[in-house]
Amino acid sequence: MEVHYPTASLKPHRNESLQGGHLWIFSGALQQPPNWVEPGGLIDVKSATGQFVARGYYNPNTDIAIRILTHDSGELINGDFLRRRIRRAQELRSLFDPRQTNAYRLIHAEGDGLPGLVVDRYADILVAQIHTAGMERLRPQIIEALLAETNAKGILWRNDLQGRKREGLEVEEPTIAAGEVPELIAIVENGVRFMVDPWGGQKTGFFLDQRDKREALRRYTRGKRVLNCFCYTGGFSVYAALSDSETRVTSVDISEPAVEVAYQHFTLNGLDPDQHQFLLADAFEYLEDAVEQGELFDVIVLDPPAFAKSQGARAQALKGYRRLNTLGMQLLRPGGILLSCSCSGTVGMDDLLGVLSQSAQRLTREVQLLETHTYSVDHPLNLAMPETAYLKTVFCRIN
Ligand code: SAH
Repeated sequence: MEVHYPTASLKPHRNESLQGGHLWIFSGALQQPPNWVEPGGLIDVKSATGQFVARGYYNPNTDIAIRILTHDSGELINGDFLRRRIRRAQELRSLFDPRQTNAYRLIHAEGDGLPGLVVDRYADILVAQIHTAGMERLRPQIIEALLAETNAKGILWRNDLQGRKREGLEVEEPTIAAGEVPELIAIVENGVRFMVDPWGGQKTGFFLDQRDKREALRRYTRGKRVLNCFCYTGGFSVYAALSDSETRVTSVDISEPAVEVAYQHFTLNGLDPDQHQFLLADAFEYLEDAVEQGELFDVIVLDPPAFAKSQGARAQALKGYRRLNTLGMQLLRPGGILLSCSCSGTVGMDDLLGVLSQSAQRLTREVQLLETHTYSVDHPLNLAMPETAYLKTVFCRIN
């Protein structure tokens, strides 16, 4: 069957990055807006000389005018296309031993060649998010393809994303897309047990992107006094506490349900939560008080929510990271370990390292960089799009 998609032409020399595998076209790169295409409609991109470059979907309302789905002119965008992409993603995730880890990101948007789509797997359940108008149009086919390619017992939409407004989409309540979805899902991650609330938990219910960092933390926490700020449901805390019976963990978060679940996660893993501390507090206020009282920890985890959602907020965000990391360093004994994260898209690894270096300078402390983490098996990075590596995690020693 021959299918013709509407076309948009690039300005001269604007196709190089696309040929390198980049998946975004900004409106300024187009000769003129293809105004006969509805938001989210499929479109073929041609070079200034009329050659086929790529196929994707268009949105006139966003800075990124076109997101690419394929570079193959023979590949139609339909259910089979989605199934091939899902199969390819699933093959990569088969690296996880399901007895050890049965929760992972199955589809990581651009990283898996499906811009605008995120699907997290929690045991038998999939929790999916659509970020763009183009993916929204493929919604029925996405569900069909997920059901055909995975053995999921239920699929939940978590399209309660404010960013959808920019795309001209509604912010929705969580809704079942297929099968049944329980209130809570039991998962295992590196052999550690957690309960995920797919309906009311933050994002899709769990921060899967920190899995390998949680695992890496274990080696630093044996017998130590650990502080986990922005702990959510205690992911880092449980790993730390499990590393040694002498380890003591203080977990701080501003969300009451999160702190309660963190407490329960200790019990679920055979730990006595009463030997540890769980605090419902603003992390900045907690840190300031602790500095004033001269408290000291051996290991500190700082995993705040994104401070910079837009480029304009970047300077303000860097200030926030400096303040946070300065407080963290003040609470670390000499030789203590700091695990510092940023999930702000516009703050790069170099920015975070810069923040750490400035914070240390201010306190005349010395930093030894031990580990940096960004992408991972279930959060793959399209090498042509380094700017989509949103999560940066740094392990360092503060002397
Ligand atoms: N490290 C966690 C994920 C952290 S997500 C994990 O591995 O699961 C960021 C967390 O910061 C959320 O739980 C949110 O409730 C919390 N948070 C946001 N603002 C906060 C503040 N001012 N003080 C303390 N916690 C805050």
